[in-house]
Amino acid sequence: MISVSDGQARVLAQVTTVAPPELVPVGRCLGRVTAEDVRSSMDVPPTDNSAVDGYAVGCGDIPAGGSRELDVVAELAAGSVFPDVLGPGQALRIMTGAPMPAGADTVYPQEIVIREGRRVVIPPIARAANVRRRGEDVKAGAVVLPAGTVLRPQELGVAASLGLAQLMVRQRPRVAILSTGDEVAEPGVERKPGQIYDSNRFALRGLAEAAGAQAADHGVVPDLFDELYARLLAAAASADIVLTSGGVSVGDYDLVKAVLQETGGIDFWQVAMQPGRPIAVGRIGTAHFFGLPGNPVACMLTFHLFVRPALWKLGGRRELFGPRFHAVAVAPMRKKVGRREFKRGILTYTGERWEVRTTGPQGSGILTSMTCANCFILVEEERGDVAAGETVWVEPFTAL
Ligand code: AMP
Ligand code: MG
Repeated sequence: MISVSDGQARVLAQVTTVAPPELVPVGRCLGRVTAEDVRSSMDVPPTDNSAVDGYAVGCGDIPAGGSRELDVVAELAAGSVFPDVLGPGQALRIMTGAPMPAGADTVYPQEIVIREGRRVVIPPIARAANVRRRGEDVKAGAVVLPAGTVLRPQELGVAASLGLAQLMVRQRPRVAILSTGDEVAEPGVERKPGQIYDSNRFALRGLAEAAGAQAADHGVVPDLFDELYARLLAAAASADIVLTSGGVSVGDYDLVKAVLQETGGIDFWQVAMQPGRPIAVGRIGTAHFFGLPGNPVACMLTFHLFVRPALWKLGGRRELFGPRFHAVAVAPMRKKVGRREFKRGILTYTGERWEVRTTGPQGSGILTSMTCANCFILVEEERGDVAAGETVWVEPFTAL
């Protein structure tokens, strides 16, 4: 039996390559990962410019103790440049985003001035007020997005602000997903007596795509050695990671292990955790293989713990694990010493602290415990039953 942490370390040790880079238009880079440092070739903003609609003036023109009347010599819209130098006694009507004219250092908002024809009466304000400085957002030469950054909407905006039309990002890792089991029926098809509908393939596809992968659906495989063997090899031929669910336990029809013993390079683990004890990890051909448990909650949890970090590493990310923080358990929880237990939790902020409770029955086949939850509650190996008021770890479900 190995610990969850040892299992994660062993998985990550096996992932030694990173998906190749490709150039992708910025508008299509959401969720992608930068393959190289993105450096700015320019200052952003490229010039000092006005932060408000108002009047650009050399502030030395306005006496500290009172107002002064100035000539309005021209109007400047964003996108234009004032070609001259502003002289003493002159003001330039300026719009938000227009470059500061030479000779001016301060912008007086239109709300504080009195405009009379070609003249404007301006009261004193602090020098350099309402001016956005060249390079105050980004300096030329700075690394703005280091390699391994996941591109969220704000990173796309920043990349575009540097004038970049495309980015060198990692290709999406290719994940092939299969379900195993004679009892597993395809949704939309009439279920035979004794069958259940496949949920794992769909949950795994969602998890894989949410983790940045490109998923290929390889359907349901019956519990037949030769067919499973052929289908796994076929799936591995065009994938970086092959995922199966079911068939890794100790039942008479749990064939995944037997098949993989023939393809070689496979580790079978009993992980000291609950749910999700049995999992098979290794390689088929050039693909990484994860044989996840059949029970739907265990299947999703083992993806979260072992597959996602591998996928993120393969996808070139710097961070391989999601956030984890402490919350107060508001009700007691049963817990066995010696294994890491994961409960489905509902995490709420009460106004002064984060509190968490379980979703109710925690059977590893109760998949609606995942839909009611917004986090996993993690109770460490050495702990026993948790009393109300004790602190536990929570791992919030990531967006989507
Ligand atoms: P196994 O490890 O194959 O014995 O499966 C463990 C449990 O998970 C059994 O109750 C299976 O029916 C169930 N199971 C296996 N695969 C799936 C699946 N794709 N969708 C939903 N339940 C499944
Ligand atoms: Mg099975």
